[in-house]
Amino acid sequence: MSLLKKTKGLLRTYRCFPKKRLGQNFMIDESLLRLMISHASLNMNDVVLEIGPGLGFLTRLLSQKCKQVIAVEVDPRLTTILRTELKDLENVQLVKGDVLKATIPHFNKVVSNPPFYVSSPILFWLLEKNLDCAVLTFQKEFAERLVASVGSKEYGRLTVMIYYRADVELLDYVSKDMYYPSPDIDSYIVRLTPKLPPFTVKDEQAFFQLVRTLFTQRNKKVRNAITPFLVKLGIEKEKIKEIIDSLPYHDKRARKLAPEDFGALTNEILKKKAILQ
Ligand code: SAM
Repeated sequence: MSLLKKTKGLLRTYRCFPKKRLGQNFMIDESLLRLMISHASLNMNDVVLEIGPGLGFLTRLLSQKCKQVIAVEVDPRLTTILRTELKDLENVQLVKGDVLKATIPHFNKVVSNPPFYVSSPILFWLLEKNLDCAVLTFQKEFAERLVASVGSKEYGRLTVMIYYRADVELLDYVSKDMYYPSPDIDSYIVRLTPKLPPFTVKDEQAFFQLVRTLFTQRNKKVRNAITPFLVKLGIEKEKIKEIIDSLPYHDKRARKLAPEDFGALTNEILKKKAILQ
């Protein structure tokens, strides 16, 4: 039986209507689920997190390829279904709750079709974990922002933050017809491999703050957009005027700065601040 038929059948049997609000679009192509698993190069020592197991088709396939699956599902209607449908699988641990809030045992890989409405928080949350890799689907526009080139319209804070912490590969294009119900937008299967930062910053929090500040005015030149950041650092208004034109890239627009440039700018500002004190 096709996954589409199985999906419709289960939803009918359990009288469960998919909730758009929770991003409930179920992947209905088994070959894509298998492809995602193959991209994670699983072995029997791996503990895999699945965010939003839905009706459990990916969960079942994962359980055959790794030591343990931790499946975190927020919708109590689906956890009830999963408890019945996956009861024969001994290496699946079902956690009921919001993945961003629940207590989750240690895992080293992630394979998942997460709900699109929380792509960004999930991604940043995963980057804080000690992961070998994550294979995830993201909506096309979001995935393209992850690998955007400097200066392009997709290039932004997300691109810089990800570049600093992980290698990103857009591996396969997935048509929206591969989901039931079908979402509005196509997606990509993406692999994230966390890495050490490719450049050194003296203070990561300051670097993140600088990137955030400059991208809120991405088309402005650095010298016209950076004041809020300098004020937050505690530099006096008079001093700001003195140093602003001596900063590297002060005449460039934020969207034209490479991730390394944001790092160099942060370091130079911190150096100047230390001299001023
Ligand atoms: N794994 C299934 C598949 O591959 O077809 C379902 C994927 S569906 C795109 C997303 C799933 O995430 C749904 O089951 C939804 O209920 C669940 N979900 C939504 N928000 C969540 C959250 N904050 N934490 C955990 N699960 C969530």
